[in-house]
Amino acid sequence: MNNIEQIRNDWSIEEIKLLYHEPLLELVYKAATVHRTWHSSSAVQVCTLLSIKTGGCTEDCAYCGQAARYHTNITVKALMDKEEVLSIAARAKASGSSRFCMAAAWREVRDNKDFERVLEMVKGINALGLEVCCTLGMLTETQAERLQAAGLYAYNHNLDSSERYYDEIISTRIYGDRLNTLNNVRKAGISVCCGGIIGLGETHEDRIGMLHTLSNLPQHPESVPINALARVPGTPLQDLTKVDVWDMVRMIAVARILMPKAMVRLSAGRSEMSTTEQAWCFMAGANSIFTSESEELLVTPNPKLDEDRAMFELLGLTPLSNK
Ligand code: SF4
Repeated sequence: MNNIEQIRNDWSIEEIKLLYHEPLLELVYKAATVHRTWHSSSAVQVCTLLSIKTGGCTEDCAYCGQAARYHTNITVKALMDKEEVLSIAARAKASGSSRFCMAAAWREVRDNKDFERVLEMVKGINALGLEVCCTLGMLTETQAERLQAAGLYAYNHNLDSSERYYDEIISTRIYGDRLNTLNNVRKAGISVCCGGIIGLGETHEDRIGMLHTLSNLPQHPESVPINALARVPGTPLQDLTKVDVWDMVRMIAVARILMPKAMVRLSAGRSEMSTTEQAWCFMAGANSIFTSESEELLVTPNPKLDEDRAMFELLGLTPLSNK
C-alpha cells in the first residue's frame, strides 16, 4: 500500500481503480489502518445542518427536491431570521455538535440584503464557538473574502459526480463553475467541504473519476461528504434503485485512503441504513455525521437525535469536541 503517512495529490486513475476494486474486506482493513494513523477511531464529528432558505431554486439538479421546476411536496421558505438560526445553533452545540452548517437553496450568492443577513448569522454562530459552514451556491472571490472576514470556517460546494457525468444530472451550470467556486473559497482561506453523491445512475468509472478530481486538487478538501441519493418524489431520479450500502462503504474507504487527513462525512442516506450498516461506514473511515433538530437533512429524512445517541453509545463513539 501507499505510505499511509504521506499526503498525495498525484493519484492516477489506475491507482484509484485498483483500490476501488479491491476485495471489500481488504479495502476496509486498509482504510481503517489509514484512519487510525490520522484520526481517533472513536471520535466522530457531529455537524448540524440547517436549511436557512428552502426550495424555489432556479437550478435543475436532477436529484434535488428544492429545484423549483420539479413538482415535489417541499414547502418553500424564505430566509430565516437570524435570532431563530442562532437559537437552533445554540441548542445544536448543547447537544454535542461542533459544526453548524447553513444551507440556502440559491444558484449563487447575490450581493443583496439576504447576503448581508447571512454574514450576520455567520458572525453570531462563530461567536458561539462552533465551526460555522455555509452552502449557498456559487461564490465570487469577493463574496468568499467577506464570508471569511465574518468568521466563516468552511464552505460546502459538492462536485456531485464525475466531470463526465455532470451534464447528465445538471444542465444549468458546468463542472468548471464548481471548481471555480472551490478555488475562490480556498483563496479566501476558508476550509473546503466538497464531496459527492452516489446512486445518480453513474458508473463505477464516474465514482472513480470524482474521487480522482477530489484527491488531485492542489490541497485536499478538509471535509469530504459522501452522500447516497435520497430519492425525492417528483424529481427526475425518484425511481432509481436504493444505493447498496456496500457501495457507500467502498466509496468511504477509498476516500479515506486517498485523502487521509480529511473528515469523511457519512451524509445523506443514513435514514435508510441500519446501525450495523453505519458501523461499517465508520470502520471504513467515516468520522462525521449530520444531524438536525427537524430530523431532516435539508428536505430528506435523517435519523432522530436519540437514535444517533444510542448508536454512539453502542459503538463506543464520542462526539468530536469543539475547536
Ligand atoms: S442542489 Fe442546490 S443548486 Fe441544485 S437545485 Fe438543489 S438547491 Fe438548487
